[in-house]
Amino acid sequence: MKHFPLFYKCLFIILIVFVSTASLYASGSSETKDKILNIYAARNYASDEIAIAQFENVYSATVNVISGNPRELIARLSAEQENTPADILIAPDAGALTQAQHSGFLQPISSSIGSFIPSKFKANDNSWIGFTKRARVLIYDPLVTDPTNFPTYESLATRSDITIATRSSANAYNVSLIASRIAELGTDQTIAWVAGLVNNFAREPQGNDRGQIKLVASGNADVAISNSYYLGLMIHSQDPAERAIGESLRIWFPNQDSSGTHMNISGAGLIKYTKNKELAEKFIEYLLSEQIQELYTNENYEYPVNPAVPPGPTVASWGSFKESNFNLSDLRPYLQEAINIASQNGWY
Ligand code: FE
Repeated sequence: MKHFPLFYKCLFIILIVFVSTASLYASGSSETKDKILNIYAARNYASDEIAIAQFENVYSATVNVISGNPRELIARLSAEQENTPADILIAPDAGALTQAQHSGFLQPISSSIGSFIPSKFKANDNSWIGFTKRARVLIYDPLVTDPTNFPTYESLATRSDITIATRSSANAYNVSLIASRIAELGTDQTIAWVAGLVNNFAREPQGNDRGQIKLVASGNADVAISNSYYLGLMIHSQDPAERAIGESLRIWFPNQDSSGTHMNISGAGLIKYTKNKELAEKFIEYLLSEQIQELYTNENYEYPVNPAVPPGPTVASWGSFKESNFNLSDLRPYLQEAINIASQNGWY
């Protein structure tokens, strides 16, 4: 029993040292505190790591990336509310960002940031901004297939002589594509479109966009629905087999004589409860800088959103095309309906 007072004394001293060190850190070095950025990221390409490392260097900041799929990250923001450590949400699809926006997890980004970006690629309240563009295209083998036989998304559903490879309808890229069809064609025509598409599926939807491209390369599908940059990633793959596939296939931009090709973005949203708004906005601004835009188009084969930066050589080789004018901020009312239409018509 005699040992207890000494034990408590020691504990007390340790606590005092710990508390005083912690308070010194917190009060005496607000600069250190302000230089930590927490990003909830549903996008993790190799080029993102490079962009983040460069930002850390330029701004002497520490960036913590918490990865997850959009659904997980939005659920986390919902559970954490004002206690969230997140400063920024990054998603590879506008649907997730509009959901975060309408759930009240975001706040407007300073209007001086990204003012050069067309309104169709950012939130109507400026709470998220697209920092790269990607086209949802058709990929085919020019030695086997003539894409003028299926010039539009609609024609994929009406022709009886083609087979289509696509991933699950639950994937965000497809949800946004279907949602944009509802906005453009209406519910009834979208139901007919999905049903026709399912009729032409080469197999049950499975795998990712690269998997669909490989199915075309192996001759087991005529056309793959894919984001444009996946072909670029395959053309520049370390794997010779992937490289050969990338080089043998081509991109077709659908709906050039009508609504234009469906576009999506990777975007960044400013978290409503960020304790580091200034640094968070600097990060978003940095993503839009010429330097990082060049990185994304040269390394991840995406389309720049900054008009001062031309597409990189691989992206430029696919040619110019007409983009859809659909405003991605308007996706939200159609997202759930898109999921329902797909699942009720056999696109699982
Ligand atoms: Fe992707």
